[in-house]
Amino acid sequence: MNLQQRDRAVNWHPYTQMKTAGDAIPIVRGKGIYLFDDVGNKYLDAVSSWWVTIHGHAHPYIAQRVFEQLNTLEQVIFAGFTHEPAIQLSENLLKLLPENQEKVFYSDNGSTAVEVSLKMCIQYWSNQEKEKKKILAFKNAYHGDTFGAMSVSGRSVWTKPFGEMLFEVIFIDTPTSENLESLKSIIKDHSAEIACFIYEPLVQGAAGMLMHEPEDLSELMKFCREQNILLIQDEVFTGFGRTGKLFAANYLTEKPDIMCFSKGLTGGTMPMGITTSSNEIFSAFLSDDKYKTLFHGHSFTANPLACTAALASMELLLKEETLHQIDLINEKHSQFADMLKKDALVENVRQIGTILAFDFKTENGTSYFNNIGKLLYEEFLKRGIIMRPLGNVMYLVPPYCITSEELDFIYQNIVEVLSKFKI
Ligand SMILES: *Cc1c(COP(=O)(O)O)cnc(C)c1O
Repeated sequence: MNLQQRDRAVNWHPYTQMKTAGDAIPIVRGKGIYLFDDVGNKYLDAVSSWWVTIHGHAHPYIAQRVFEQLNTLEQVIFAGFTHEPAIQLSENLLKLLPENQEKVFYSDNGSTAVEVSLKMCIQYWSNQEKEKKKILAFKNAYHGDTFGAMSVSGRSVWTKPFGEMLFEVIFIDTPTSENLESLKSIIKDHSAEIACFIYEPLVQGAAGMLMHEPEDLSELMKFCREQNILLIQDEVFTGFGRTGKLFAANYLTEKPDIMCFSKGLTGGTMPMGITTSSNEIFSAFLSDDKYKTLFHGHSFTANPLACTAALASMELLLKEETLHQIDLINEKHSQFADMLKKDALVENVRQIGTILAFDFKTENGTSYFNNIGKLLYEEFLKRGIIMRPLGNVMYLVPPYCITSEELDFIYQNIVEVLSKFKI
């Protein structure tokens, strides 16, 4: 049996209807922005393998650091014990975040980082004997696939079978200068019972790269704070340079109480999640009463290999040449966006930093199940480019090491594919 047949016999893939899905492509090697399959085809990874590999594949520096760590200390229980990579990573990360972020809690992925943030907020209030249990979130939000994370995500086909089991959340539209006052009045009506507001800052990724303005979000954050609602900023996608600045937080005038990270954190090399909090949140758990402890942890909490990968990835990120690359992508994306805006086949062209997205115009409206997504995916694959449209939404989130010529190659292919699929 070849790799594809063996895979089909034993593996159940994520977000995949296994009955109708084509064979998975066996990847044997990665280098920079390219992936290579078992028969020698080369693919340009224009989506950073689900938005994680910010420095491209198999980066030698990260590999070297993880290899050394693997030979030194691969894992240690993080209750009662600690280690240099976790200490150093927390120190380095906190220096880059809004200055009210002072404590780091480790977990394994974006969903668990979100779970931890929700538990911190709910227990923050219950430790003070306050009845605040409801959560505020954006419509169309995506915060992960575990039950808590699903609950605070927009209700969709993805969450439908679990609908009744998800906890109650108050969903509001993302802010615009027009709707801000009405959003405030909805929040005000419920503020006494709302524990926290969780949001993807500036870009709702999985919803289809929907964007809103920093000024409007800042104003909404400010209002929530006045209403005694804690703020959870989910930077799982937007963190580590994706939006053109190190964090979406750098665009905002208000500071969150809690932040969530994963995806680009380790440069996409190892699974890890981080939830940071202010001292105010942390202090609410300090007590002689054992019941006020944050009872949460995972077997692999603060795994030294993942911490080391994150340290190496952050070092690379802060290099002048990387920051320059991010600026370059931003500039090129923005020029291409201006060109796309004149194209009659697309609409809602939007861009921030290294994220570029637009809707392919379709006759039957937009939907995740829109068949056009599958056709586009296959067409780009044939051209050696990995794009994974969300329905009719096409987007680019390339690794930062992509060159100007490689970006032009993608743009050129987009233009060609658009004219080919003309309706
Ligand atoms: C991907 C994502 C998550 C979930 O992270 P996983 O590591 O896939 O569990 C949470 N929040 C946002 C904003 C994301 O984009």
